[in-house]
Amino acid sequence: MQQTITFDMDLICRYNTAGPRYTSYPTAVQFHENFGEIDYHQEAKKTNTFASPLSLYLHIPFCDTVCFYCACNKIATKDRDLSSPYLAHVQKEIALQAELFDAGRPVEQLHWGGGTPTFLSHQQMQTLMQTIGEHFQLVKEGEYSIEIDPREASIETIELLHELNFNRMSLGVQDFDPKVQKAVNRIQTEEQTFKILDAARKVGFKSVSIDLIYGLPFQSVESFSSTLEKIVQVMPDRISVFNYAHLPKIFKPQRRINEVDLPSPTAKLEILQYVINYLTEAGYVYIGMDHFALPEDELAVAQRYGTLYRNFQGYSTHAGCDLIGLGTTSIGKVGDTYSQNVKTLGDYYPSIDAGKIPVFRGIILNQDDKLRREVITQLICNFQLDIPAIEKEYQIEFTHYFSEECIELEALQQDGLLTYNDNNITVLPAGRLLIRNICMIFDAYFRQSQNQNFSKVI
Ligand code: SF4
Repeated sequence: MQQTITFDMDLICRYNTAGPRYTSYPTAVQFHENFGEIDYHQEAKKTNTFASPLSLYLHIPFCDTVCFYCACNKIATKDRDLSSPYLAHVQKEIALQAELFDAGRPVEQLHWGGGTPTFLSHQQMQTLMQTIGEHFQLVKEGEYSIEIDPREASIETIELLHELNFNRMSLGVQDFDPKVQKAVNRIQTEEQTFKILDAARKVGFKSVSIDLIYGLPFQSVESFSSTLEKIVQVMPDRISVFNYAHLPKIFKPQRRINEVDLPSPTAKLEILQYVINYLTEAGYVYIGMDHFALPEDELAVAQRYGTLYRNFQGYSTHAGCDLIGLGTTSIGKVGDTYSQNVKTLGDYYPSIDAGKIPVFRGIILNQDDKLRREVITQLICNFQLDIPAIEKEYQIEFTHYFSEECIELEALQQDGLLTYNDNNITVLPAGRLLIRNICMIFDAYFRQSQNQNFSKVI
């Protein structure tokens, strides 16, 4: 089913509250420090019984300069030598982690994120992939992706990454307007971006995604339309248009953005409306939650077949993998757990030197968590929930188990966000942009706390 989407300004204004992005359920807010290395060991070893394929996420935290909108876990530095000790410790962590998982479990998915993964030298990237290959079963047909900052990559870098078996990349752009770029401290020419995109296509990358952000200083429909036009001319396989969430109390670099330069909430919604109309008219499918893809891209195909999944990197086609997080701050999903590595180099290095997996917090999911995760995943990925299938799998009576939630569903049904009956919940075109609000109904923790540190849903 191809997703259509309706932009209903009144509805959006009414429902535009703060809420999680559901890259996991429970969300990271629920991770606690009673979960540690021993729990991780036990849970990781249990997964060898099922021997699901593996997904590896590797975090390279360094960036040459800081973008003021940034909410990532990164270290801004000009000192390239910092990468050597980091690489040495990540290599040790790879070996420590590999001891927990049976050899031969294929790595179906691999992602290098950051920070800026290409902060590493070519030699270091080669060494890193070689180490991964020595400890894990890399496969030729795997989905291996990397985040690229076009300012930090050359044509030779792209050729090398292809040789290293990477076949998907996302290119950070945000906005081509020089005034916006200056205000967010990310000066990047169109030539830099398109040179990398061309190189990726020439060497045979299967999917190239371009990341944009709306809601940045000085943006307007007119200015952003010019960026969109240039991007659509080169037809990347995927386009992500993220909502800039201005949370300067939490993310320090954002304090350098002048609030008076930000577009008003109304102007921001007008930009979003323009983006949706423009991209769908240009032939892109709305996948959900800021993501668009060409109809033949595997994300759009997976959504049509109801097999799309969501994880810490966004939407994914590999639902069944155990995800191992490597490097500072990285999050893993192993068996029925989520776990996160320590956040600073000062904590990471001693832990690795002591031969310990540097997990500092996590959560073991109970049956209620697993049920709610399944409901939220189905809704956010496929805009549908098959109620009898959920009842069968989790041995529940839906309307009884979710009695309070069903009352709230009724209200959303009356507002035209969804239809709901004994057999299914179907998110309607007007509800697709508000999918986070629909998922929040099934989030037991959010219902209790209404945590205000989340970003606005739109
Ligand atoms: S947005 Fe990316 S490149 Fe910019 S500072 Fe953050 S992690 Fe680094």
